[in-house]
Amino acid sequence: MTTEESSPQEEARTLESAWLFAGGPPPFDRLEAAEVVPAMERLLAEVGTAFDALEANLDSTWEGLIEPLERMGDQLGRAWGTLGHLLGVQDSDALREAFESMQPAVVVFSLRMGQSAPVYGALCALRDSEAFAEAPDTRKRILASMIRDAEHSGVGLEEEARTRFNEIQLALAELGTSFGNHVLDATKAYGLDLQDPADVEGLPEGLRALAADAAEGPEATAENGPWRFTLEAPSFIPFMEHCRSSGLRERLYRAYITRASSGELDNAGCIDEILALRREQAAILGYASYADLSLSTKMADDSGAVEELLEELRLASRKPAADDLEDLQKRATAAGDEEVALWDIAYWAQRVREERFAYSEEELRPYFPLPRVLEGLFALAERLFGIRVVQADGEVPVWHPDVRYFRVEETAGGEIAAFYLDPYSRPAEKRGGAWMDECTGRSALLGEAGRTRLPVAYLVCNQTPPGPGGKPSLMTFDEVRTLFHEFGHGLQHMLTRVDEGLASGIRNVEWDAVELPSQFMENWLYHRETLLGLARHFETDAPLPEALFEKILAARTYRAGSDMLRQVYFARIDLELHGRNEEGEGESPFEVQRRVAEGTTVLPPLAEDRFLCSFSHIFAGGYAAGYYSYKWAEVLSADAFGAFEEAGLDDAAALAKVGQRYRETILALGGSQHPLDVFRAFRGREPSSQPLLRHSGLA
Ligand code: ZN
Repeated sequence: MTTEESSPQEEARTLESAWLFAGGPPPFDRLEAAEVVPAMERLLAEVGTAFDALEANLDSTWEGLIEPLERMGDQLGRAWGTLGHLLGVQDSDALREAFESMQPAVVVFSLRMGQSAPVYGALCALRDSEAFAEAPDTRKRILASMIRDAEHSGVGLEEEARTRFNEIQLALAELGTSFGNHVLDATKAYGLDLQDPADVEGLPEGLRALAADAAEGPEATAENGPWRFTLEAPSFIPFMEHCRSSGLRERLYRAYITRASSGELDNAGCIDEILALRREQAAILGYASYADLSLSTKMADDSGAVEELLEELRLASRKPAADDLEDLQKRATAAGDEEVALWDIAYWAQRVREERFAYSEEELRPYFPLPRVLEGLFALAERLFGIRVVQADGEVPVWHPDVRYFRVEETAGGEIAAFYLDPYSRPAEKRGGAWMDECTGRSALLGEAGRTRLPVAYLVCNQTPPGPGGKPSLMTFDEVRTLFHEFGHGLQHMLTRVDEGLASGIRNVEWDAVELPSQFMENWLYHRETLLGLARHFETDAPLPEALFEKILAARTYRAGSDMLRQVYFARIDLELHGRNEEGEGESPFEVQRRVAEGTTVLPPLAEDRFLCSFSHIFAGGYAAGYYSYKWAEVLSADAFGAFEEAGLDDAAALAKVGQRYRETILALGGSQHPLDVFRAFRGREPSSQPLLRHSGLA
């Protein structure tokens, strides 16, 4: 085709087809929002036709059924995923509009693929076929997950049950949205307005500026007020830590724990409805409780296994948490304060932290310039896993000049993977937080010219940008931790050896196990050689002072018992509420909360505590009967690190040996095996909570 013959729109399609239909790196430097709609429409039409053909001529073999499904899912996922990625890092009205206009069609198509009764029948036929009995375990596991997901979408149900099931799905989606909206609206509706400068004495400058911005009237200043303190985390948390008046802290605290619990925004009704509908949904699918349904897709066997872990953690943290409280009480008494109340804890905890081992973020920053931190991180990966990370900026198009591109190679030679790194905060166009996402996944089927397609990852952080005059990005310790965390997710995605695209990298990995490789990497920041190796002053090249390193170590276990007990408290309530069947209905959710609190808090919640009304994780997010996952994965990651400790953290050869085993199991096997089998293959035994307790100073 010559350019004279093509309309501008056709030209755009030529560009899209190069990427959307034939693979290769996304043309981030040329992607226009205007192209999104025609490109996605064309892609959906093509994939839709292919899916029609598949449904019409079902072939219950791996090649005839699973491979085409993998192809279709990949085409759609890669295109839609790229747009989703752009929306996260380079938001614009035009892109958002295009995305939102296509979203319903994409959702409808995904539902159609997931809920196709003919495809479900063919999946079951494949599973039951004689030939498949000989299939590799990885394929068996992939197929089992596909059948289970289909069943959980209601596809195997009789018509009447399916109608009711779909009604419930819809109602739950709406209830989840209103639950979340009520929390947002209630949070926004509240403000603690202060005018007297004496009331804000001791509050950090940043918090006062934030509060002046939130105050009504144009003449508010950080120095002279007025100030409005809100229930949003960046205001609420530092206020509770620094406000010197117990009375004011009490006011804000009471507002916080009663959010969305009265009037039009009351979530109590939502909670009852959500729990009842989830219970009914689980029953329709043949599970005794919603907790059973949730756990059927997770690494943990059943709620008994989760209960057992939570009880271990509770027993280990209860006394230390009580000691933490006593510690604060002593400090408060010395300052002339009487009984420490719930709203005093954060305040006194912060005072003690400052006195014992405070280092300011500002003190640390000069020792963590990004280029140096990356060097240290890549050197660690080389020592442990035998891989080399090579700068490859300019080899592929990027969406912003600050974005870096790296290739990952075997130290001995051979390309394995690549990743984009988008490190800096850009509030105007980039979503907050940090994440790892797939650009492409490893797959033998989807490679070109008979070669396996290699994985490519996006690592996205929101750290401090570089300063003027060539000053590098100077990172806080938390920002360094975040980078290590996301790099850990990236390693699992990139170092996979699984060739089946549906189980490579992070795919098909159970939800309560996915945080293993990421949290594992965080442990290395407390490893002397690693941290001192990467922390050097950006101007003088001086190493991090020993005293600062010691403070970082000490701060790690400060109030670890209290933090652990709090997570156990939340996880238990979640599990109890979702583990109940009809007989449990005599007790209200708030009664369940109070009963659980008896063994899992050292200061009982107030009688009017309604924190459940703002527990969005489990009522508006994906954590229902899954809140325990935080601790579950932390047990795994700490225990995995324990293997390196046992080998000897000072012994480079021993570390490399364990590192190789870690790479060949946890990082290589992805979702091809049950995570417990993967863990056993690495550790030679079942997971133990002891290393986590030891790292937390609780054992
Ligand atoms: Zn993570």
